[in-house]
Amino acid sequence: MPFVIHGLPVSQGIAIGQAHLVSHALLEVNHFLVAPRHVEGEIARLKDAAAAVRTELRALRATPTTAQSEVSAFVDLHTMLLDDPLLIEAAGKLIAERRCNAEWALVQQMEHLLEEFDVIEDAYLRERKADVIQVVERILKVLLGHPGQVPKRKEKDKKETDLGTIVVAHDLSPADTIHFKDNQIAGFVTDVGGATSHTAIVARSLGIPAVVGLRHVRAVIREDDVIIIDGARGVVIVDPDERVLEEYRLRRSERELERSKLKRLRTMRAATLDGEAVSLYANIELPRDVTQAREVEADGVGLFRTEFLFMNRDELPDEDEQFEAYRAVAKAMAGKPVTIRTLDIGADKTLNSGGPRTEINPALGLRAIRYSLSEPQMFLTQLRALLRASAYGKVQILFPMLAHAQEIQSALAALAVAKTQLKTEKIKFDDKIPVGGMIEVPAAALALGMFVKRLQYLSIGTNDLIQYTLAIDRADEAVAHLFDPLHPAVLRLIAQTIQTGTRAGLPVSVCGEMAGNPAYTRLLLGMGLRQFSMQSSQILDVKQEILRADAAEVAAKVTRILRQDEPERIREAIERL
Ligand code: PEP
Ligand code: MG
Repeated sequence: MPFVIHGLPVSQGIAIGQAHLVSHALLEVNHFLVAPRHVEGEIARLKDAAAAVRTELRALRATPTTAQSEVSAFVDLHTMLLDDPLLIEAAGKLIAERRCNAEWALVQQMEHLLEEFDVIEDAYLRERKADVIQVVERILKVLLGHPGQVPKRKEKDKKETDLGTIVVAHDLSPADTIHFKDNQIAGFVTDVGGATSHTAIVARSLGIPAVVGLRHVRAVIREDDVIIIDGARGVVIVDPDERVLEEYRLRRSERELERSKLKRLRTMRAATLDGEAVSLYANIELPRDVTQAREVEADGVGLFRTEFLFMNRDELPDEDEQFEAYRAVAKAMAGKPVTIRTLDIGADKTLNSGGPRTEINPALGLRAIRYSLSEPQMFLTQLRALLRASAYGKVQILFPMLAHAQEIQSALAALAVAKTQLKTEKIKFDDKIPVGGMIEVPAAALALGMFVKRLQYLSIGTNDLIQYTLAIDRADEAVAHLFDPLHPAVLRLIAQTIQTGTRAGLPVSVCGEMAGNPAYTRLLLGMGLRQFSMQSSQILDVKQEILRADAAEVAAKVTRILRQDEPERIREAIERL
């Protein structure tokens, strides 16, 4: 029977394919046999991992928080589960009996426990299933030393080879999604997530349709079900009949036709009807993304999210590896500006090991520049690599998530150290490399004076600016309806930053997802924005809007909109722009 599920549209397009169910990505572990002489070692590995989680939980309890009693309650419960002989001890026995690896034994034992939970009458106990899963995930994280990877599906497993693979998951981390760059995935759907989560951003960068926040999709779709994703409307159709399939195949080809027509705009200069030139830059996650940026003739790279180079691996990339990656982008863009952001790790972007500790509020914790400044050696390595790459193109350095003058000073001091070292070593670099800051914390937007004094350009990260202004977790589907780019407070912060920065003579760009949404192009133009940075897949759509707009006319209208307080009026006025 066909049925339809509605979620949050995060990446446009139509995908038709067969479901590939990914349980908790982390719980998809490999099974292998261990030699008899290694069995003891394998059991010890499991026990050590459990001990590490126990320490982690203890540390969590010791962290002062306003929700102390809730934290203590779950820490107690998780510690109790950890100590329960039915978990670690029983998994240890499985290792001994079946001579299997610790990860697999643990997941087997967990599944056995979960089955027992299913028949429990007591609703409270039944609900503790999620806690068992969480505890096992924590142990697996330690065992694997890294987050799970979405397993590749064997081609022969698919029923019909002309259909793509659609990944169906409870959740996908940005680290999982970046793997899709290697695998042929037609689209994905998840239970959780928000439209500006990094998972969604990666989907847009891949140009694959995705719908998130579907709540129970993982439970209602079966492996190999035929699915249609309508990424623009946030609709997922399961088991469609032939008539519906035909309709969507038609829509898909219409869209492909439209996209190919848009390609004609590639070589056109982006300028408004009244002759205002606009620069359109690409956001990239990996060096290989420059291919797409070049295809659409982007004016440069406006944001290279370097943290993706650091994910899904145990060892951090050393200076040479980073240098090669940055140089490759600088060279490929052949003299066009390439803005490379220093590591923005934390919140939903995590490292396999050595990343920030477990935090209650990771988005407010040791993230981005805060993390880099707390790891001076790692920061210095990245800065040296960036400087070295600057000898091969027009590289600019961008510091993320600045809020304090002290952070800018410390980051600039670290850059000065890197420069001095390279000079001593007689390694060439651009001594005048422009240094900019991301405006993505309301405090930064409100106290712009300290930024314009110390930096050469600004880049507004609307994803985080909205998250931090409205106190809405950008990755949480439960509050996604409140993540509002058009909230008057958000609009004023953006407009103010563009105007104050421009007046001070600093180039200002927007590199958050708002810049790539054609529905906001006129609004941003009217605020005075002349530099937009977005996923390459969006550049031609935004260019089309720019070519149709009159900058002076929209500026006058936007000035009036910014005086408005009523959300509905603002929304209507923006639609009419
Ligand atoms: C932003 O916050 O808008 C931004 C561009 O940075 P990221 O999405 O990587 O946090
Ligand atoms: Mg950000």
